[in-house]
Amino acid sequence: MKIALLTRNPKLFSHRRLIEAAEQRGHEIVPVDYLRCYMNITSKKPELRYLGEKLTGFDAAIPRIAASHTFFGLAVLRQFEMMGIYPLNESVAIGRSRDKLRSLQILARDGVNLPVTAFANDTTRTSDLLDIVGGAPVVIKLLEGTQGIGVVLGETPKSAKSVIDAFHGANIAILVQQFVKEAEGSDIRAFVVGGRVVASMERRGAAGEFRSNLHRGGTARAIDITPEERRTALKAARSMGLNVAGVDMLRSGNGTMVVEVNSSPGLEGVENATGVDVAGAVIGFLERNAKPGRTRTKGKG
Ligand code: ADP
Ligand code: MG
Repeated sequence: MKIALLTRNPKLFSHRRLIEAAEQRGHEIVPVDYLRCYMNITSKKPELRYLGEKLTGFDAAIPRIAASHTFFGLAVLRQFEMMGIYPLNESVAIGRSRDKLRSLQILARDGVNLPVTAFANDTTRTSDLLDIVGGAPVVIKLLEGTQGIGVVLGETPKSAKSVIDAFHGANIAILVQQFVKEAEGSDIRAFVVGGRVVASMERRGAAGEFRSNLHRGGTARAIDITPEERRTALKAARSMGLNVAGVDMLRSGNGTMVVEVNSSPGLEGVENATGVDVAGAVIGFLERNAKPGRTRTKGKG
């Protein structure tokens, strides 16, 4: 296969591992800085150009688009899809996953168990918003945060209300969520590839920290997840339309709850904690599925 790795930085651990795994399996993999691509949008012969040359002959594309460049990155990925090149994850599914509100609505529609979540534009009903999710403490989240940045704990009714009012006042969209305290600052990350959980770990937040993100100082260890957790992770990935996903789940008093489905999950934490060759599993998935014209939506959605 000839694979395009859409990345701004091929030196990052996850990207190095994908390059290594592809080459080990005898494939050609080309890092493409998606911000330097430009395209010819025509119905007959859509084209992508990069560094003055036409991008041709690719069988698959692995999107690793930074959250800060979602708009242009997904436009480039759509162009690959229009050219019939198989994307590891489709642009439409990545677009869904980058918006926390939209993701939760999709997951809820498909019956995935979630923490109770509220959203409002009206700034005069903050107390009611807090009541909906069971009162303080509550978790307040920016709609497009990642790596734990933009996830805040409103510990008392007063502090929760002032944080919510501050975001509303600054015109920043947020959601307010039931705080699952039983999780005790840890969560489960299940790494899904093509309808299978290939690796899973428990992440634990640093002392005094309810966010378990490794970027926030959390630590990880390999765990065996329960059949219910496995089913939940697979259902969440399928619901979002993602072939590859990092599904974050909390162990709550009301069963397993999904907090987030990541469409470009990092490999460093999970490979180091579990010893699983996750990059190899990703390339193996492409070997089985990357046939011309198999992109489902071609960016339409
Ligand atoms: P991000 O996209 O920034 O990773 P998440 O929604 O995944 O945002 O939240 C970050 C972390 O915060 C989660 O991994 C989890 O440890 C913790 N967390 C998020 N939501 C809740 C919640 N409702 N109750 C308890 N902990 C939560
Ligand atoms: Mg997360």
